[in-house]
Formats: sequence, C-alpha cells, structure tokens
Amino acid sequence: MPHDPVDLRSDTVTRPTPEMRRAIAEAVVGDDVFKDDPTVQELERLAAEITGTEAGLYVPSGTMGNEVAILTHTQRGDEAIVDFDSHIYNYETAGPAVLSGVQLAPIRTDNRMLRAAEIEEAIRPDDEHLPITRLICLENTHNRKGGMVYSIEEMRRIRDLAGKRGLRVHLDGARIFNASAASDIDVKEYCSLCDSTMFCLSKGLGAPIGSMLVGGSEFIGRARRNRKLLGGGMRQVGILAAAGIYGLRHNVGRLPEDHRRARQFAEGLSRIDRIDIDLDTVQTNIVVIDVEKSGLTVDETILLLEKNGVLVVPFGRTTIRAVAHLDIDDEDVTQAISVFGKVFSTIR
Ligand SMILES: *Cc1c(COP(=O)(O)O)cnc(C)c1O
Repeated sequence: MPHDPVDLRSDTVTRPTPEMRRAIAEAVVGDDVFKDDPTVQELERLAAEITGTEAGLYVPSGTMGNEVAILTHTQRGDEAIVDFDSHIYNYETAGPAVLSGVQLAPIRTDNRMLRAAEIEEAIRPDDEHLPITRLICLENTHNRKGGMVYSIEEMRRIRDLAGKRGLRVHLDGARIFNASAASDIDVKEYCSLCDSTMFCLSKGLGAPIGSMLVGGSEFIGRARRNRKLLGGGMRQVGILAAAGIYGLRHNVGRLPEDHRRARQFAEGLSRIDRIDIDLDTVQTNIVVIDVEKSGLTVDETILLLEKNGVLVVPFGRTTIRAVAHLDIDDEDVTQAISVFGKVFSTIR
C-alpha cells in the first residue's frame, strides 16, 4: 500500500479532527453582522482573554486581519515601517497600497529580526515633502526567517520608541502561539507591547478557516467597520468560530510537539550530504532547507521529493520550506528524513 504523502508544505494543510467537526456541528449560531452569533462572540471574548487585550474580531484570514489593522491604524499617504522579509510586504498582494493608500518602508535585515535602532533611522522627520510615518509592523514568529522568535527585549525597545515618537505597532502574530511555546513568554506579554495583534486559527491550531485581530475596544470597534468594508462581515459563522474555540482550547498546549518534530527533522537532514540547514533558525515548527549544493534546482528537488511521497514548497532561489503541524507524527518525520536521504544520495 502506498503511504499517504507526508505533507510538510504548511501548517495550513491540517484537516479538522472528528472532535473539531463535532464542535462545528453542534455550534449555536446567529447572524454575526447583527451581532447575533453567540459562538463568534465567545471566540472573540476568549481571544481577548488569552491575549490580555480588551476585544477581538474574527476575520476570514490572516491577510484580512493584517489589512484591516493597517486600514484602521492609518490614513492615506501614511507610511508603515516593515521588515523587507515580512509577510505584509511580500505576500499580501500590495494590500496596504491598494486598500489603505499606505506606502510601506521595507527595511532589509537579512537573517535577523528588525531592530529598534533600524526603525528609528527610518522614521520620517516632520516635513511637508515627506510621508508621515504612522505604523510599525512586526512579525513573530517570522515566516521567511524560518520561524524565528522575536527577542522580548527588542520588542520592548520598539514599544518604547513607538511611544516616544507617537507611532502605532501592529504585530503579525500569525504564529504567536508558536513564539510563546518556544520562548515561554506569555502571549499576553507580546500583545501588551503592540496596539493590535493578528493571529491565525488556521495554522498550528488546526482550524479550517479563520484568524483573530485583537486590541483595544475602540480600535476593534473601528476595525469591525473596516472588516465590513473589505467584505469580511459574515453571517452564521459560528460554525467556523466553533473550530477556532476548539483550537484555542485543545491545540495550543501541543505546539511544543511540532517544534520537537521540526528540530528532529532538521537534525536528520543536516546529516545528509549536499543539504544545508541553519539549525540556529529552527526555533519553532518551520525548517528552511538549502539545496544549492545538490546541483538541483528548487523545482527539480520538489518534484523528486513529491515522487517519493514528501511535499514541501519553494521558498527562495535555492531553498525549500517544510513545516511540522497537527497532522504530522513521529513516523512521518522518520519517513521524510529517509526520503530526503534517498533522493539526495542518488544525485550525481
Ligand atoms: C499565513 C500568514 C499570514 C496570512 O494568513 P492567511 O490566513 O494565509 O491569509 C500572515 N502573516 C504570516 C506571518 C503568515 O505566516
């Protein structure tokens, strides 16, 4: 019997378990645009409680959560400082420009996280020629940096700087629970340093759909209006919110398992010739694999792995990405390492 492929493309590929499907089936619902859906309200309360914020807003995707946050924090013509490698700069189809009329000021950081000193240099002086710097966007964990975790000290320095210069801070915390699991720093502490935080229910927490935007009640009130503007007002959406509640209650505590498996996988691969992995960046559930020394292109590598039952995604000119998640067990990790060993040993 051929084995199901080991799907390491993303932590978004998880399918709801029977228990989560039961929660979905049993959800009490109402029209959430009329604020009549008790399950959505419960999810929004729970998200605020867990993150230590005043209020939460359920959104269909992480991208919408980030874009609603930017739209709510800024005015047309403002500038937002972001990391060159951020999701917001790279993977949101120029949303800030299109939806908010905001110019992004990307800062190149290579293999480290964006620092307060670099942000300070990028803040515009008050001059009628210049855009107004309004917002700083941070990302934790950092996707393109291989799931790296932000240092809380650096985040505090950024918070202080933002306070002094009158800037707002938005956290793209798609995987903030992974950051917390790796650092042992409470999610509340990360969120307390930011004016708004987005996190995904549809990644490590295993829900089929959905993300949360959390922050102060006044901000979330305005964000709710902007969510409607972007087409994110949904009706009996408690059936999906129920999956989010389930994920928050049952799947946060198991994230260290994903981190352990990603580590095990990365260490296994690092012993294979012609594979390069920077083990220092493997801090959470993401592994970035450099295949340059194999002489194969990224596309050729992916095809060979796929033929042997392992799915990954292209990540850079010479790199691919693998992600551990709820549907990957120890056996899958062993299997994936052995497939990489086989594929890379047959290359000449
Ligand atoms: C996945 C992700 C998002 C966007 O989430 P979607 O639900 O896919 O739109 C935003 N930021 C980061 C860092 C992500 O990894």
